[in-house]
Amino acid sequence: MHEMSYMIKFINMAEEAAAKQPDARISSISVKVGEMTGVLPEYLEKYFPEAAAGTRCEGASLHIESVPVTVRCNSCGNVYHPCRQNDYRCPECNSIEAEYQNGRELELSSIELA
Ligand SMILES: [Zn+2]
Repeated sequence: MHEMSYMIKFINMAEEAAAKQPDARISSISVKVGEMTGVLPEYLEKYFPEAAAGTRCEGASLHIESVPVTVRCNSCGNVYHPCRQNDYRCPECNSIEAEYQNGRELELSSIELA
């Protein structure tokens, strides 16, 4: 379970982002989690209250945006979601050569202060 350590990392990032307004309460934090990372949003949610206890994020609401994997085909430029159904190949030209576009995100997208 890496989710606890990622959750702590997100909380540290949120506190850093709020450092200039030390009197404000952090009321919500939003994070982006790519499908490729293997980090499960439900575990982040589960660990959040424990990870946030005693920090400025305690009591804040957590919003998780799950980012699906997409790749761009090197042959024809088609953007697709590689999966078992298409055998991880481009559905347009059947090429297996592709570059990852999305799905590796593990970032704080925004915080709200109250
Ligand atoms: Zn293609």
